[in-house]
Amino acid sequence: MHPMIYADNAATTSLSPAVLEKMTPYLTQYYGNPSSLYSFSDAPQKAVARAREQVAAVLGAQPNEIYFTSGGSESDNWALKGMAQALRRKGKTHIITSAFEHHAVLHTVNALQKQGFAVTLLPVHENGLVRPDELAAALREDTGLVSIMLANNEIGTIQPIKELAAVAKAHGAVFHTDAVQAVGHIPVNVAELGVDMLSLSAHKFHGPKGVGALYVRRGVVPDILIDGGAQERGRRAGTENVAGIVGLGEAITLAAANMDQIAPKLRELRDYFIDHALSIPRSRVNGDRVHRLPGNVNMCFEGIEGESLLLLLDLQGICASSGSACTSGSLDPSHVLLAIGLPHEVAHGSLRLSFGDETTMEDVQYILEKLGPIVERLRAMSPLWERIQNENR
Ligand SMILES: *Cc1c(COP(=O)(O)O)cnc(C)c1O
Repeated sequence: MHPMIYADNAATTSLSPAVLEKMTPYLTQYYGNPSSLYSFSDAPQKAVARAREQVAAVLGAQPNEIYFTSGGSESDNWALKGMAQALRRKGKTHIITSAFEHHAVLHTVNALQKQGFAVTLLPVHENGLVRPDELAAALREDTGLVSIMLANNEIGTIQPIKELAAVAKAHGAVFHTDAVQAVGHIPVNVAELGVDMLSLSAHKFHGPKGVGALYVRRGVVPDILIDGGAQERGRRAGTENVAGIVGLGEAITLAAANMDQIAPKLRELRDYFIDHALSIPRSRVNGDRVHRLPGNVNMCFEGIEGESLLLLLDLQGICASSGSACTSGSLDPSHVLLAIGLPHEVAHGSLRLSFGDETTMEDVQYILEKLGPIVERLRAMSPLWERIQNENR
């Protein structure tokens, strides 16, 4: 069998050996609790402080604006639940987000809605982009919080966050962005973007799983999500995941340093793949082709089921996805593809490939070589494809 080709870097990435090397001493030698007062805890304490500086430096933030969390989902939950509760005391109970956010945001606003908050979901249009003028039109007297993701995890579209944040700010609303797919892959600077809060997660850029951060601009104060000890300056309790935090700091630094080299290579692989895969009849690219993450491919092939496609690709050693890791396993089509206006039956036939630093041109050619015949084979067995053919006759 062909060696495995991993093309699902949007779901998670490999842990960089250099990152692991920096983490290991904090799992073995330096196991002290950073909050303890004896000198044995100096090393873990300093390591956490250094990682905070590393994250802040990459984002253009101050170290005391960085809070470590257990990952992207917690950061999103804290930003939205914490800020919504704080804003409610000022009479601001309306939240605006977009229709194609990650479930860590969408399910969180659903939960807030049940607690009495009003929620508006902005449309994302066929190109997968939120329009600043539509955000402006959706703002209300009681709008306190706006959350729009920087880059979409399924179709990779990159939102005009600077413009969107400016619209929210002019209205006095707090602006959060889920930048989990963007950080480490495209330049992300909180000052340039003008955002108040930003979520990131280490395992999306070759760091360890289970650790992330929330950037919170000075002066912005969300309520506390995790109550307990005085860690993270009293705002996020729990003994620090020291090795994870060290890994996050190292991974974000490496990703930022390598970005100028890796991103152009990924864009080339992405565009090569899309240009060639489009020669398959009745195929389409989902989401804007320009405002798009360097390594993201998302396409639909009419008349087939994404699940079957994934299984046959897996038999050829190819790890791909039909959208988000959260929807695989359920038979519902992706909410992202429905949000960009695809009919159910087309949205079912989706394929997401997310290339990473380890992806080669040979890998891309191998996937292309396998994809065409697999799609053909599935269509030959598909009643849906037969119907499509008949309709066109
Ligand atoms: C992966 C992801 C998350 C969740 O992050 P975890 O660290 O896995 O909890 C949130 N938002 C987006 C856009 C993601 O891609």
